[in-house]
Formats: sequence, C-alpha cells, structure tokens
Amino acid sequence: AHLSEKEKSLIERRERLLGPAYRLFYERPLHTVRGEGVWLYDESGRAYLDAYNNVASIGHCHPRVVQAIAEQAAVLNTHTRYLQEGILDYAEQLLATFPAGLEQVMFTCTGSEANDLALRIARHYTGGTGMIITRFAYHGVTGDIAELSPSLGASIQLPAHARSVRAPDIYRLGPEASKLFADDVRAAIADLRAHGIKPAALLIDGIFASDGIFAEPEGCIAEAVAIARAEGLLYIADEVQCGFARTGSHMWGFQRHGVQPDLVSLGKPMGNGQPIAGVVVRPEVLEPFGRSMRYFNTFGGNPVSCAAGQAVLDVIRDEGLQQRSAQIGDYLLAGIRQLAQRHALIGDVRGAGMFIGVELVSDRTSKAPAATQAKRVVNGMRERGVLISAAGPLENILKIRPLLAFEQSHADLLIAALDEALQALA
Ligand code: PMP
Repeated sequence: AHLSEKEKSLIERRERLLGPAYRLFYERPLHTVRGEGVWLYDESGRAYLDAYNNVASIGHCHPRVVQAIAEQAAVLNTHTRYLQEGILDYAEQLLATFPAGLEQVMFTCTGSEANDLALRIARHYTGGTGMIITRFAYHGVTGDIAELSPSLGASIQLPAHARSVRAPDIYRLGPEASKLFADDVRAAIADLRAHGIKPAALLIDGIFASDGIFAEPEGCIAEAVAIARAEGLLYIADEVQCGFARTGSHMWGFQRHGVQPDLVSLGKPMGNGQPIAGVVVRPEVLEPFGRSMRYFNTFGGNPVSCAAGQAVLDVIRDEGLQQRSAQIGDYLLAGIRQLAQRHALIGDVRGAGMFIGVELVSDRTSKAPAATQAKRVVNGMRERGVLISAAGPLENILKIRPLLAFEQSHADLLIAALDEALQALA
C-alpha cells in the first residue's frame, strides 16, 4: 500500500514510543480523527463505514452517552468505597436483563479483569484450579488469562492446569460438531483428573469469536455445558464480544443456547467506549470468595463509567437495537449468502444478529483455507471505505461485526463493497 509521508512518520513515532507489541489494522493503517454514528472519519474527512468495532456498538460518540459522561464527570467521580445510588440503579437494571439466578454483579475496568475475577471466584468456590477453554480462544491479557488465550500467539503455552478443546465448527466438523465439543470437554475433565488436577471451570466465548465465529445451531454448547456442570465445574460465559444484544435474538449470547452460566463476564460495548466491565454471578458462587477477602478495584464501577453503562442500556432499549441487530443481521446474512452464489471463494456464511463470519476457501471440496485472499478482501474493503477484519487460526474467516446502529442502507453498502472486493480478486 502507498503510504503518505504523514502516515509513515506516525507509524515510526508509534513504534519508537509504544514499542513492538502493538499491531495496526490494515496494510494502509487508518488514521482516525473522529467518529459519529456508524462512521469513522480520517484526517482528509473521508468516511468509513464501521462494520467491526463492537465497543462503540450503539454508535460512535452517541450523544446520550457523551451527555451522561459529561454530566456525571462534572458532579462526582470517586469509587465504590462510598455509598452511591448510581451504581445501584445501574446494577439493578443490568441484572434485570439476566435470567433468574444471576443476581449479583462486580465491576471491573476491562474484560480481561472480568475474566480474571471470574476465574478467581470459580477457583475459590470449587477448590479446583483446572480450566477448559477452546483451541484458539481469546479471553484477555492478565497473567492468568493470557495463558488461557492461545490466539495471542504461538508463544502462549497452555499451563499444566488447562486443557483446550475443539470449538463446535459445523462447517469443518459436520453435524457432529456439538457432540465432538461435548466429548472433548468430557475427555478434558478426565485428563485433568488423571493428572491430579481438580477442574474448576469451563470458560467459553458464546460465539467463539476468535476460534472462527460458530453460532449454529442454537443449543450447540448445551451438552458440553451440562457435562461440565454435572462434573462439578462452573460454566463461565465470556460475553465480552457476544453480549449486549449483539446476537440479535437475545440480549446475551448464552441465551441462544438455552444454558445457564454460573458466571458471566462482560466488557467492550458495556460503556460504548468508557472503560467498564464486570462479572455477573450467582450469589452462592460468589459467597465464599467475598467472605474470605475484600475486593477493591479503584476505577471499577466508578460513577462516570456507571453513567455511561446506564446510558448504553437506555439506548439499546429506546432505539430498539436488539430488534435491529436481529433484523439487519438477518438481512446481511441473506445478502452475503447471495454473494456466495457468485463467488466460489466463499465457503461458508454464518452468524447470529450483528456477528457474521464469512469463511473463505480456495476450494469448496477440500475447504482449503484462503488466508491470503481474506487479507486482500479485508484491505480491499478498507480501500472501498468499509471496515471489517478476519478471524480464526489462519485468519481466513472474514469477521463482520457491524455497529448495532446499522440501517438497511448501511448493510447494502457493506454487501456492495464485499462484492467488489471479491470481484477484484477474480
Ligand atoms: N474476552 C473476549 C471474548 C474478548 O474479545 C476480549 C477483548 N478482545 C476480552 C475478553 C478482553 O477484554 P479487554 O480487552 O477489555 O481486556
């Protein structure tokens, strides 16, 4: 890609100042200066349709969130060691979106911290240390959680207390996928025990976002979850990506599968960009942890973040964003499936609500992953003004995760850009 002098100098400064661990999106990195609704703008004023960021899920710089943050910041911003009503009002409304049984919430600043806390609570409750995750999972960056995130890179070594299992990929594993997933979980539990390790929890992302976006069929995780719970493990539902109406039919991703988690970790879209995350938990599971030590997270649950969280819940309700996620998501799926009739590169189109995976293969019979082509499509769409990314161990699965604020006209733009980017490869 041809980079301007300005872009080159920003990239150089970034590497010099921030070091080598960060990665930029796209061959020609995007220099964003402003966001509004479903659009991001670069320095020249060019608009990019955001079909990837699920933090600003209800729309970039949503006026109600901006106002809630500004108003609260002007009044009080302290922490959870004082009595405050805002955090309680928000907790009540957040918990009301969960099925009965999940009745307490603890606040953190990031999804990683939420998973880390869930892990500690689960270990405390079960007295075990063993963890089961999927093969290419991502759960975050704390020491304990990074070890359970193989997708961070080949240098991540699964610790002795962890086992990884195949995610329920019906495209590659066939209709047996959910049964294989369940069998793997059963075998992982047995193997942990055979090594003298007591299992604590099954930790799974409800849509397997980094494994490759596996949403179907509904209920595909139910057997694995039932086995884990029958064996005394807790089930931690990582909703950092699939929560807050993302999957359309439900507010929470796990609900599509008819399962009941013991702990749920939340993050990303929770404050539409204001850092707020948390763990929702069954009170009896939290009890022993809470009795044995205190928990204080300086910024977790601060009034400004809670005000942002409250505004997000209000907007999802008032703007009917869950229904929109279901409707526009279905429309997008149908539109992309039509493209599959003309583009042999598309091996599979799957998803739920506003979370869509398009698996590219160089041959539909062998299903050989088309990773280079996926990269070119992602960059081709960026050149055409539509932002997506790619997922899976080989990054051959287009990851399309539009803002919930998408309208049909935005979906049409996305489909047209995808069509053109695929055409350009032919
Ligand atoms: N779990 C999942 C499924 C995630 O996608 C992420 C973030 N990509 C995290 C946890 C960690 O969240 P954070 O970056 O806020 O720590």
